[in-house]
Amino acid sequence: MIVSHILATKGREVATIGPDASVSDAVQVLGTRSIGALVVADGDARVLGIISERDIVKHLAKTGFSTLAEPVSLHMTSKVVTCAESDPILTVVEQMTSGRFRHMPVVSEGKLVGIVSIGDVVKARLEQMARESDALREYITN
Ligand code: AMP
Repeated sequence: MIVSHILATKGREVATIGPDASVSDAVQVLGTRSIGALVVADGDARVLGIISERDIVKHLAKTGFSTLAEPVSLHMTSKVVTCAESDPILTVVEQMTSGRFRHMPVVSEGKLVGIVSIGDVVKARLEQMARESDALREYITN
């Protein structure tokens, strides 16, 4: 199974924010949409960074509420690990596990085309395992 299979089910919409928006704006979007991370992108859908609830909590704990007025670019992770639509889901899980992050933007020809979360990949993997076990059971019984 590959990343495009997940996007075909969940869709390609990605919550993004510009680098100059404030952390407070990011909190609003995260809270309203009930999501854990925003991809920081420019007007051409190029990935500049990612900011997750974890980044915001970390900086709030360190510097207090002044963080909220600061630009997203100050608090995002700039070195973003991305994947391609043709990447196997197992590779994506391995990268998320070793990098200890739960979101992976999907990029095609330098532009953002989707995002997969650890929840998406675990769900896809469980469904694949269920299908394989059904096929094996049917093979054994017939
Ligand atoms: P998360 O698990 O997504 O809440 O992110 C945990 C930490 O990893 C935060 O500092 C994020 O900014 C960072 N992060 C999230 N996704 C990625 C990614 N694809 N590549 C690099 N860092 C990431």
